[in-house]
Amino acid sequence: MVTKDNAVYLRKFCPKCGESMSLISTDYEYYKTCDDYLKPPDLPEHANTVVLKGCPFDCGVCPQHQNHPCLALFNVTDECNMKCHICYHSSYPGAGNHRSMDDIKKMLSTLLKSEKEPDLIQVTGGEPSTHPQILEILTYLKNAPVRHLMLNTNGIRIAEEESFAKALKKLGVGFEVYLQFDSLNSESLKDIRARDMMDIRLQALERLERLNISTTLVSVIKKGLNDDEIPELIDFARKYRCIRGVVFQPIQDVGRVESQDDFRLTLTEIRQNIIDDAKNPFMAEDMIPLPCDPHKICVGYAAKNFKEGYADLLPVTGKLPKSAITEHKGTVSFEQDRDFVKNVVETINLETAMGEAILKDKIKQKLFCCWPSFLTPKNMGYEHVFRVVIMEFTDVYNFDTTNIKRECNFMVEPDKLIPFSTHNMGIPQSQ
Ligand code: SF4
Ligand code: SF4
Repeated sequence: MVTKDNAVYLRKFCPKCGESMSLISTDYEYYKTCDDYLKPPDLPEHANTVVLKGCPFDCGVCPQHQNHPCLALFNVTDECNMKCHICYHSSYPGAGNHRSMDDIKKMLSTLLKSEKEPDLIQVTGGEPSTHPQILEILTYLKNAPVRHLMLNTNGIRIAEEESFAKALKKLGVGFEVYLQFDSLNSESLKDIRARDMMDIRLQALERLERLNISTTLVSVIKKGLNDDEIPELIDFARKYRCIRGVVFQPIQDVGRVESQDDFRLTLTEIRQNIIDDAKNPFMAEDMIPLPCDPHKICVGYAAKNFKEGYADLLPVTGKLPKSAITEHKGTVSFEQDRDFVKNVVETINLETAMGEAILKDKIKQKLFCCWPSFLTPKNMGYEHVFRVVIMEFTDVYNFDTTNIKRECNFMVEPDKLIPFSTHNMGIPQSQ
């Protein structure tokens, strides 16, 4: 690592090309803070591969990996009804290869060996809604011992087929749609997605709102194209009751992306954009590193009250004591901070009076699988949570074996769990 002014670079050497530098952070102070948040390794319960060639050639998960799967991705098909310019999976219409139910069952069994009670499964592809058995797959996984199930989708089928959206609604609490939503500008959408998706996205969102299906917007951010829309995207998300937050992903050099240095941006540039925006309430102390993979994931959580078509937000993460997050000891209590509790209660607009009654009615909530539980008023359910997440994946430009070993997003295969980034980079594996 090399620092210059306030920036951090990865210094690399290749026998063919010589030395090069990759910008990995524009904020040295935040970079150092990430190291303070790093929590002790939380290892998978079972390794599927042995160490033969060393990282990153033994993925599976191998015994050297330093993190368990916080997020398990089930790729159920290579087929897609779009052909985005930035597709990490290089999907396209006609790619086919729908996974069988038998494969899905094997994938679940492989995951459960490494993680008895996974926090989050995300069904992905290709476009998973093109799979003829998608509802059967989602129902099967919803009945597995998993806290949260997500469908990662471009929204076309939700927009076009009401019966499909209604079937998703029937999956009930703990199911969420992870909806591609990169821009509010048709030209930017054409650049990223190879077509103007604006009307489709709005139709899908209207339907999700009407059915009140929990939804997270996910935006791929490309410098000079849609980075100036980050504040606008957060503001847009606040106009929907069903939206639980926005995930920003800096563009990465994988799949169909033809990366150029001048369109990359770092996690810290997106974070700065969020905290500089006066319209959203997230300040620097609210956008904090996620302790299991601090350099790659930054999160801000807020209590949300939706009234008159817009969400009031009160950031919570800045109030979490760092030691409680990193040491992961028991439950965090905000009881001592009466003003803060009062603000949370007022923000989520509970009908009960403030005071002892609220604190007696407290229940344990968990914001993220690797965080401690904390006490909240009884009525603070998932619909009262709004989160902003920045998730940066690794590619050839910013690859380093220390960070890749901390990755907590895994692609699940019938007999293996492969960190999402090494999977997308197509690194040839030893076994
Ligand atoms: S990325 Fe993780 S699973 Fe893959 S080889 Fe490295 S340590 Fe092992
Ligand atoms: S990014 Fe998603 S919607 Fe676009 S081609 Fe790839 S799988 Fe399809």
